[in-house]
Amino acid sequence: MSKVQELFGSMVFDDEVMYQRLPEETYTLLQNTIKKGKHLDLAVANEVAEAMKNWALEKGATHYTHWFQPMTGVTAEKHDAFIKPSGNGKVLMEFSGKELIRGEPDASSFPSGGLRATFEARGYTAWDATSYAFIKDKTLCIPTAFCSYGGEALDNKTPLLRSMERINKEALRVMKLFGNTDVKSVCTTVGPEQEYFLIDETLFNKRPDLIFTGRTLFGAPAPKGQELNDHYFGTIKPRVAEFMEAVDEELWKLGVLAKTEHNETAPSQHELAPLFTTANIAADHNQLIMEVLQKTARKFHMVCLLHEKPFEGVNGSGKHNNWSLMTDTGVNLLEPGETPYENAQFLLFLCAVIRAVDDYQDLLRISIASASNDKRLGTHEAPPSIISIYLGDELKSILEAIESDTPYGAKEKELLRVGVHTMPKFPKDTSDRNRTSPFAFTGNKFEFRMLGSSASISGINFVLNTSVAETLKQFADELEKAEDFETSLHNLIRRTIHEHSRILFNGNGYGSEWVKEAKKRGLGNYPTTPDAFSVYLSEKNIRLFTENKILSETEMRARYEVMMDNYSKVLHIEAVTMLDMVNRAIVPSVVRYARELADTICQKKATKCSVKTGTEKKLLTTLSDLLDRTSAEAEELEKRVNSIKEDDDVAKRANKYKTQILPSMDNLRALVDRMEQLTDRTHWPYPTYADMLFSIR
Ligand code: ADP
Ligand code: MG
Repeated sequence: MSKVQELFGSMVFDDEVMYQRLPEETYTLLQNTIKKGKHLDLAVANEVAEAMKNWALEKGATHYTHWFQPMTGVTAEKHDAFIKPSGNGKVLMEFSGKELIRGEPDASSFPSGGLRATFEARGYTAWDATSYAFIKDKTLCIPTAFCSYGGEALDNKTPLLRSMERINKEALRVMKLFGNTDVKSVCTTVGPEQEYFLIDETLFNKRPDLIFTGRTLFGAPAPKGQELNDHYFGTIKPRVAEFMEAVDEELWKLGVLAKTEHNETAPSQHELAPLFTTANIAADHNQLIMEVLQKTARKFHMVCLLHEKPFEGVNGSGKHNNWSLMTDTGVNLLEPGETPYENAQFLLFLCAVIRAVDDYQDLLRISIASASNDKRLGTHEAPPSIISIYLGDELKSILEAIESDTPYGAKEKELLRVGVHTMPKFPKDTSDRNRTSPFAFTGNKFEFRMLGSSASISGINFVLNTSVAETLKQFADELEKAEDFETSLHNLIRRTIHEHSRILFNGNGYGSEWVKEAKKRGLGNYPTTPDAFSVYLSEKNIRLFTENKILSETEMRARYEVMMDNYSKVLHIEAVTMLDMVNRAIVPSVVRYARELADTICQKKATKCSVKTGTEKKLLTTLSDLLDRTSAEAEELEKRVNSIKEDDDVAKRANKYKTQILPSMDNLRALVDRMEQLTDRTHWPYPTYADMLFSIR
């Protein structure tokens, strides 16, 4: 066995370990829970827990934790040692089934949007048996869902799991109509490509903005950015290569299918893509990827920046969410088929996605909304805030031919009837891909590109799953009643294309004409998080989530509160960090430089020779003017920050941050960046963009 094979999954309590270590009957019962969601008895749980503990102890673990994903977007853990007093001053190592299945972290400080007042703080965590337990940092981690005492979801995993059940059920109904009765389950597969920046740790430590907010709040552009595209897929520098190797090893131990590592477009930007897997496992793994990237970077004296827009003027980082549907028999439902019938089924699933994305554009936009992603969307090579679907020319013209009953193909000149024709083969070549589309069909899956690099992938995937499940349900309702299946199918597909073609757009999504065109088509455009969330609680959206039992109205209202509040908090921290940097470092530094200039002018004049002082005077005048305007803007920003009251309603507060704080922050930044360009580099208090973006050599 190769080293990689030995390493892979060595820290995971996976199927093979379970099979080896559990009595046969226990193993079978556990499989029933994992595969079919059957209830797990406490007696069985006790046996599983015992086996898990022994395995973990052999691997050097000392603690265990329920590992969960509260609405902070990151993971949480509370470590408990396995120890239990044995009565003689010694300890036993213990871990029970009860401790495996359910935890009660006193987690009152996690955001709950009012679902849980602090006096009734107890939330509970429940084992997600479908995601394997693993060991990291000598701790046995048990993936869990996180709920309030009343059972309301306080995390991102719970709605994702619920949505996977829904799409499974509806996809099976549809498949049955095509005679596919051997298929027992359908799951969503996800492969999220993770982008990130690496910068030198010593430079990071000198930038309070990076430390407190994850992004640079000031910084004039470096003389060179990404315009030469010489970083993209470029040779990986030795320090980065060693880092990537260490990341891969760590992830492989955790059973994460880390596959592709390469340099991205911006200087110092990189990407890691895992192979796709089931959505909830992909979500857990993506959290591990983010954690391992950050921890490993520190070992190499670098810092991994996961923020969506750490640097202005160069690309931000996203997380391309590749999404498809897969049967337990291994068939990808978004793969065009070999026979007309398979093609018809493919077309129906494709139409379900088209309709779902059109009907729930707003929810898709909302699911990726955050203050940090607002900075990225619509800027440098990032998708705009408008949702549209790219199908490629070939597939789009096939749909158009079906819709309009016009002949398709150069040779055949035939009318396409669904269920009769095999689809013309379309090229899977990636070269002509449209990189500007937020939601692109890439041959056998959809790639959603709006998701930000720091976000959990659960949000976007439960919205996608739920909206597609709802559409499949309506399709199945209609087709199950049909007298003539083929005719009804043909009509349904035609009608869907006709009604939802506005969402299809193959052109340049980065152009300003698209904004106008999209408006004409009636597509939603929500540039900021408060804009997007203003439509979250619409009747249509509440109906979707409640009827599909993904979120209750109370849970939705809680999420709305959490997200709006988070937006304000992020901007608040950014604003006060800016004020701190301006008042305590930038202004004092420029004042010192100005004094040096003034001294030089005086000294030159004192020589009584005719030495010229024009340059110094001009510079001093410009800097003094910039200093005045900077102080005035900083005062204004401070006044505005102080005017926002904590007890305002969340939407009102978020809108104030958007309309009053953000513009003032932008003004302040412009002034400071200009001063940076004019100030002697030895006086400037912070590392520059050039320093940071080209720091890893
Ligand atoms: P690209 O040209 O976009 O890099 P790749 O084939 O390399 O295309 O895939 C990119 C990502 O998409 C990978 O994470 C991969 O695992 C994932 N992916 C491929 N097929 C599927 C699928 N059927 N479902 C979900 N994700 C997939
Ligand atoms: Mg890709």
